[in-house]
Amino acid sequence: MADKKNLRTPIVCVMGHVDHGKTTLLDKIRGTAIVSGEAGAITQHIGATEVPIDVIVNKLGDPRLRDRFMVPGLLFIDTPGHHAFTTLRSRGGALADLAIVVVDINEGFKPQTYESLQILKRFKTPFVVVANKIDRIGGWVSQKDLPFAATFKKQSTEVQARLETKLYEVIGELYNQGFAAERYDRVTNFQKTLGVVPVSAVTGEGIPDVLMVLLGLAQKFLEANLQYSAKGPGVGTVLEVKEEKGLGATLDIILYDGTLKKGDTVVIGSLGEPIQTKVRALLKPRELSEIRYESKFQQVNKVTAAAGVKISAPGLEGALAGSPIRVATEETLEEIAAQVKSEIDEVRIDTGSVGVMIKADTLGSLEALVHEFQKDNVPIRKAEVGDISHRDAVEASTVEDPLYSVLIGFSVKVHPDARDFLQESNVKVFTSDVIYRLVEDYQKYVKEQQE
Ligand code: GDP
Ligand code: MG
Repeated sequence: MADKKNLRTPIVCVMGHVDHGKTTLLDKIRGTAIVSGEAGAITQHIGATEVPIDVIVNKLGDPRLRDRFMVPGLLFIDTPGHHAFTTLRSRGGALADLAIVVVDINEGFKPQTYESLQILKRFKTPFVVVANKIDRIGGWVSQKDLPFAATFKKQSTEVQARLETKLYEVIGELYNQGFAAERYDRVTNFQKTLGVVPVSAVTGEGIPDVLMVLLGLAQKFLEANLQYSAKGPGVGTVLEVKEEKGLGATLDIILYDGTLKKGDTVVIGSLGEPIQTKVRALLKPRELSEIRYESKFQQVNKVTAAAGVKISAPGLEGALAGSPIRVATEETLEEIAAQVKSEIDEVRIDTGSVGVMIKADTLGSLEALVHEFQKDNVPIRKAEVGDISHRDAVEASTVEDPLYSVLIGFSVKVHPDARDFLQESNVKVFTSDVIYRLVEDYQKYVKEQQE
């Protein structure tokens, strides 16, 4: 059996369609943890919230569970959406260890629900489905913060039947997507069957059950992957490059292995050569009780995985969201810089031959887009991170074949001078912040061209 001390906190990402309740669910989990905070308060990270195992076990109301779970807690990424999930990449995979897919039980599946499921299937990430907004089911009588079984028992027979009907619509949709699923308390083997938890993110009903299923998944699937050495050099992913008043460009990162210290030399991916710099400060959000300080942040000397932290250091301007950040020593610097560069180069494409051009906001979303277009055998001329520039527009306009005189932009802006140029050109531009919409729109365009 694994050593308890050497299991790091699993990283959890919340996904699902817009307005189905991702933010509300995260807020509720955070709020729940703060309120019941007497046993090991939650820790606010940069870009993430850590809920320790004690808080979760308290919530479940059975102290015996404390010894059943090996993981120290759960680290929830604060930015919901599959966009965050793909941004948080690690070499050849996703950084999030676990995911929650939120679906409005009254509305059912929507484009981003399907998209979330496809992404999770591709990365083989274990996840739980939350069938949200059960309080909106006609006749439902809310029971604040109760586990699902307890609140379900208090509903009338008709209301119970209404919930079951809607729930089995969700389960049917999951089946159509290639997943065997069941109401979570009817699942005997979570390796074979997806658990679906009926929840209200507003009233808190079913939230303890979601946490419990996540812990169970972490336990079963992840023990091997969550092993880490706290003494090892820090490895993380850049979540965001951010200007901060008085600090200049800073990086919000999620550290998923080892330890990162103030003064460490770090290597970070950029569009050119990897950045090599020294950590000037490690910053965490200030506790709410310390509002007398002017700065939102407080300094720490080191952080250990898994953790979200802001890094202040010289020369961070060109860092790429989604790229790796790794601690190096004098001896390892050259090797690590080469590895980081090759990792970036693996995702970028610059063939110069005929094909579409793809621009995306982060390395992870670029990787996902390239994967989708390659799957359809669409030739790619160039794929890189960044807004659509005048140069991109000019380059695309030199391609004669209308099928490939195409610019595809995911969550990027079109620079004004590029826009002016594009209006006068015959370059076809597709922009969206839904990957599969870009793929579908392009397919439709190809079909139209061929008719
Ligand atoms: P997101 O876009 O997925 O982050 O969705 P939000 O969390 O912003 O929720 C969208 C809307 O649905 C908001 O008005 C929420 O208050 C509401 N909402 C979310 N969860 C629930 C729920 O469980 N019950 C009810 N009645 N409303 C909810
Ligand atoms: Mg939201």
